[in-house]
Amino acid sequence: MNLILLFKKISSFVRPYRWLVLITLILTLIGSFIAQINAVVLDKTVDAINNLIISKTLVWSTAAKILIIISIVLLGKEILAAFITYAQNFFGEKMRINVSKDLSQAVIDKMLLYRMSFFSKKDNETGKLQTRIDQGVSSLSSTVQNFFIDLLPLFMSSVLALILMFSANIYVGLTALLIVPIYIIITIRQANRLRGWRRNMRSFREQKSHGVMNIIESINVIKSFNREEIESDKQWDLQTQFTDNQMLVRKTSFYFDGLKTFVRQVGTVLIIILTAYLVLIEYPGMTIGKIMYHVMLFSNVTAPITQLQRIFDQMNDALIYAEGFFDILDADGEIEESGKFRPRQIEGNFEICNVDFTYPNGTKALHNIDMKIESGKITALVGLSGAGKSTVLNLLVKFYNPDSGTIKLDGVDLREYDTHFLRENIGMVLQKNHIFDGSIEENIRYGNPNATFEDVVDAAQKAYIYDQIMALPQGFNSKAQLLSGGQQQRIAIARMFLKNPPIIFLDEPTASLDAIATEQIKASIDAIKKNRTVIIISHSISQIIDSDIIYAMKEGRVEQSGDPDSLYKMGGVYKEIVDASARSLNIDKLAHTLDQNGDGVLFD
Ligand code: ADP
Repeated sequence: MNLILLFKKISSFVRPYRWLVLITLILTLIGSFIAQINAVVLDKTVDAINNLIISKTLVWSTAAKILIIISIVLLGKEILAAFITYAQNFFGEKMRINVSKDLSQAVIDKMLLYRMSFFSKKDNETGKLQTRIDQGVSSLSSTVQNFFIDLLPLFMSSVLALILMFSANIYVGLTALLIVPIYIIITIRQANRLRGWRRNMRSFREQKSHGVMNIIESINVIKSFNREEIESDKQWDLQTQFTDNQMLVRKTSFYFDGLKTFVRQVGTVLIIILTAYLVLIEYPGMTIGKIMYHVMLFSNVTAPITQLQRIFDQMNDALIYAEGFFDILDADGEIEESGKFRPRQIEGNFEICNVDFTYPNGTKALHNIDMKIESGKITALVGLSGAGKSTVLNLLVKFYNPDSGTIKLDGVDLREYDTHFLRENIGMVLQKNHIFDGSIEENIRYGNPNATFEDVVDAAQKAYIYDQIMALPQGFNSKAQLLSGGQQQRIAIARMFLKNPPIIFLDEPTASLDAIATEQIKASIDAIKKNRTVIIISHSISQIIDSDIIYAMKEGRVEQSGDPDSLYKMGGVYKEIVDASARSLNIDKLAHTLDQNGDGVLFD
């Protein structure tokens, strides 16, 4: 990323606000003219008063006239300057804030279009992506302010003051011009020296806030293991490094700031000596007033350059962060492709043929998969953790595309389907990450934004969560994220019921539910499976046994398939899993207990 490219890229974001830029620039231009008025007024006043004194015939009315004119001009100038500064700040800020809003929205809109593989890349992990976006937006919007609002007027004001100095006297002008490059060089050196440390500061700040967040999130673990001291020590190290770095930055800044003030003072002294000398030798055009005039103009020349360092720093930041930001914004290759096929009705028969799949990080998750998934039946995917079960669902919902092989839905290649339409017809209940910040009602309604409140209540009832919601002080308005894991899972199930799709994918839908809730949910799922395609991934033996067809997976391959009984008889992966589940449930003892003391649960 270089400055020209950066300029080009942000120009398109500034274009909608070009009028604001123009107004601000004009105002700033007027402002830089006005800034020179003090010098001119002082020059004229000193000369006028001086003349009065020299003439030895002090006429009070003339003196009063001079003072009244000065007062009017200076006060008038201040009033005008106040309005201009206000308008200039307001319009400048308005533009910056709007550009920042547009940048944030643009990147969000773009990211929503990207395919899943974009988010699984190492560089795009949630936290990293967010940091890149935040830093990008804030540094780019300051760049916009620098490029379009600050930089030009800054130079304008400096150059204008220099021109005035030159036109009053070429030698004084040259002296001022000599100081300027020295001043700029010091400023650039300062920015360069501080660059690395400033970057460190930013990284320390991020680590610090991350550290605090970590402590809050894991406070129960920290306390239960009595690890307060270790956590405190970790933070202490960070604080110490941060403080050292901070001191270095301050020390260097003070040194350079001092140097700059010194150079400026030397310049001022030189100008006073030179102008005084020129006045004494009665150089044409040089009057006493010109001493003050040049001193004030010189301060107008140097003052804006002081800001150059800030701009220089921010430009450097922008060059670093813009790259990361525009990598996200311009990743057009990552936009999810979509076919056009939108049948009137989806039957829900999938056919997976010879499918291989590798995740973007290189993990080969599926090898040569063949499956037939039929509507009206419950298909169970079983296998140990990591066998590739969820990956199969990821491919069926087009989160990823297979490396090779084909997936067909109702005889049509999945790629040809309109992705939006396809997902509209699939309901997924996943293991985690399914509850958004918001009320319970909003969370259920996510399944169908047009649903009535009665529909939401109905869905909650089907998911056996209605009574628990009503028991909460705020009912459906309670915050969903405060619910327990099992309750959240039922909210997700309610959402799926509300969506009412012909195809249903359930990835461990009852993993965090208690036995009673599991039984209730199982009943609900059984009730809706009619004429639908249901794929269930489960470790719950009761759900597996109740399915119509099972695919037993191992290390990314389908090892066995068939109905539960024949698969069990076959032996192998499925039998191993069922036997292990039975042992873990302590089935023998359970049966014994129920047989001896139960009221016939087992056999009714
Ligand atoms: P299961 O659902 O059977 O537990 P998965 O389908 O989740 O298994 O995972 C299969 C393999 O793919 C595992 O090795 C897992 O580590 C890997 N995997 C899963 N999701 C991703 C991902 N987003 N990026 C990279 N690898 C993944």
